Amino acid sequence: MEITELTVHELKEKLKNKELTIEKINKAYIDRINEKEEDVQAFITKLTEQGLESAKKQEWNGELAGIPIGIKDNICTNGIKTTCASKMLENFVSPYDATVIEKINSQGMINLGKLNMDEFAMGGSTEYSYFKKTKNPWDLSRVPGGSSGGSAAAVAANMVPWALGTDTGGSIRQPASFCGVVGLKPTYGLVSRFGVVAFASSLDQVGTFTKDVEDCAILLNVIAGKDEKDTTSVDVGNKDYTKALQKDVKGLKIGVPKEFYGEGINLEVKESLEKAIEKYKEMGAEIEEFSLDIAKYALATYYIIACAEASSNLGRFDGIRYTYRSKNAKTLKEIYKKSRSEGFGAEVKRRIILGTYVLSSGYYDAYYKKAQQVRTLVMNQFNKAFEKYDVIITPTSPTVAFKIGEKSNNPMEMYLADICTVSVNIAGLPGISIPCGVDSQGLPVGMQIIGNRFEEEKILKAAYAYEQETKFREKYKPQFRE
Ligand code: GLN
Repeated sequence: MEITELTVHELKEKLKNKELTIEKINKAYIDRINEKEEDVQAFITKLTEQGLESAKKQEWNGELAGIPIGIKDNICTNGIKTTCASKMLENFVSPYDATVIEKINSQGMINLGKLNMDEFAMGGSTEYSYFKKTKNPWDLSRVPGGSSGGSAAAVAANMVPWALGTDTGGSIRQPASFCGVVGLKPTYGLVSRFGVVAFASSLDQVGTFTKDVEDCAILLNVIAGKDEKDTTSVDVGNKDYTKALQKDVKGLKIGVPKEFYGEGINLEVKESLEKAIEKYKEMGAEIEEFSLDIAKYALATYYIIACAEASSNLGRFDGIRYTYRSKNAKTLKEIYKKSRSEGFGAEVKRRIILGTYVLSSGYYDAYYKKAQQVRTLVMNQFNKAFEKYDVIITPTSPTVAFKIGEKSNNPMEMYLADICTVSVNIAGLPGISIPCGVDSQGLPVGMQIIGNRFEEEKILKAAYAYEQETKFREKYKPQFRE
């Protein structure tokens, strides 16, 4: 097997046996990036040269020293560009590291590059990047999903063994599903957001892209934890998430919300999920259908809250501080106006306008306040469900990866790609997407497993048991089809 096909836990094993060295591993990944980047276009900033230098110096310490990683380009990295895939931040170099980056660095991991995304994480296909369109490694005429499409594609294409992304409404789980990899959005508050460029602060979370569930637990161990610099982060004690990796799901109670299997869900996606649920039944889990009917309001609620928060958060990009400044501006007012007009893309502007509108006096009560009330109802319905079930299973996305250009001119269609994921962010819950099969075109289908707040162990266990039983990675591989 090629070095770049191995998982991180396999790499660790080979480092331990001295079958591989840190330098050899990083060289293999850098060669792979050089080979595949032209097709996949996952990187905004490649750090391969620096990466090789650190690999030569790095000594293995029994843990994760020397393991390569890729980072979504909205997570601040000291001395390295953080662009958010926007013209606005094209030349922005952060003077400090995000807390998650400090954690990665303190392990001695090697950052091989900053990965493409939709501008400011707004989008579901990575087509809204100012720089480039990332391609789906399974079929290069299709999108990798978004907004963390660069992270998902880089892991799927074996250009990095794992990567970090962010998820505000589905931006880790949906691209993981489109690219046939494992994507985890942790509970709101489990991972520090310090140094992550804010989109919608009450929804944003940093999470992981990995090749399998074991690596997911290993990387979660690294990034989770209370941070003094993020007051919304929560202390849940020192947990070892790899302990949750058990094959036995006998008696596990799985809720299946019928609203996620109806209208708007592609037939083959639905069939794939039904087969997966059958498999859980064979493995001894207890399955029950129930109604999560409030979910039909989740998408509208999400887009009101997310845009409101974005309009406020993006106010800091004013053409004065650390951002793009229009050359055509002659007065102070023109600096603001022209810099923002020229620096932001169409989708970002759409959201700022929408968000400003729902927060303006006269509309605040009708839209923003109403959305916050519905948010509480969504939480209540999930709370009730978790009185009965350990985990909830739905499709991750209503479709498999769509064609490049298919939805980029139709915002409503693009927003609908998040229909299965947004309610999880609204309620602050953890959710994981794992591949559960391929459709008739050979494109991966993702299964979403949702847990109660800070019960990552349960979703990891459910995901691990299914993965061990079905072995997706042994059966299917990205084909780089043209
Ligand atoms: N696609 C969703 C949006 O456009 C989710 C984005 C995200 O999770 N960052 O808002």
